[in-house]
Amino acid sequence: MGTEGVLSFWGVRGSIPAPGIDTMIFGGNTSCVSVEYEDYILIFDAGSGIRKLGQHLMEREDINVIQGSIFLSHMHWDHLQGLPFFTPAFSEENQFTVYGEGRRKLSLPKILEDQMQVPYFPVDMDTLFQAQIKFREVESKQVIQIEDDITVTPFRLTHPNAALGYLLQIQKVRIAYVSDHEHEAGRLSQNVLKMVQGVEVLIHDAQYSREELAKGKRRWGHSAWEDVVDLALESQVKHLFLFHHDPDATDEQLNERQFLAQQLFPNTTVAREGLRIPLSRFAE
Ligand SMILES: [Zn+2]
Ligand SMILES: [Zn+2]
Repeated sequence: MGTEGVLSFWGVRGSIPAPGIDTMIFGGNTSCVSVEYEDYILIFDAGSGIRKLGQHLMEREDINVIQGSIFLSHMHWDHLQGLPFFTPAFSEENQFTVYGEGRRKLSLPKILEDQMQVPYFPVDMDTLFQAQIKFREVESKQVIQIEDDITVTPFRLTHPNAALGYLLQIQKVRIAYVSDHEHEAGRLSQNVLKMVQGVEVLIHDAQYSREELAKGKRRWGHSAWEDVVDLALESQVKHLFLFHHDPDATDEQLNERQFLAQQLFPNTTVAREGLRIPLSRFAE
């Protein structure tokens, strides 16, 4: 039996939205990935790409109530800035659970409320979000049971101010979402290697090349695509998506990156906004 569901990329950029003539093919919106499974929706990060996802969900005629989970990797703007424009959260019949980390003195809802207040944003979160929204602070390695056949496990990444990766399992398909993360020079992070071992789909931060990292981008919390390809080979993942592209990376450069990466690991796709892939393709 095939696995139902669709994996979609709504925003694939890192750092800041980058619309323009040079990014029309791969897209300029910041991080947002979804997995639609029957009438349930799992969302990874709320960058500017989540706005389009919201429109798509509102247009789906097969669902009356939109129900889902939003998993936040961390609170940098490029992973959060789309949230106030996620229209399904405005309707009281819809239901969402938001997962992420708090900070020592700031709870998860407080962090989200703070980005939606005067003078940064005209409407506060409580007024704007009429949907039933629960907030759940998570810890690394805590298995979250979403439904009978869906689990999500957060795990620690290496990034300034900390970030979490998420391992989603739906039936027999495992999807690892790893944004944002930096592998040390010449050494893959062992904890990430362990978590992504043999997964069907690895979506991984590949903002830079090794050359760019060496030219002053070390410790910025992002990976070189060559290291991510090494990770895919070593952990024997089935399909790799390079993700969280540098805002300055042009379509031409990303096309070339895909060509080079595929020489080393044929099942590589440079993630592109608007890409929708049925999960059954990964379950074979
Ligand atoms: Zn980021
Ligand atoms: Zn970040």
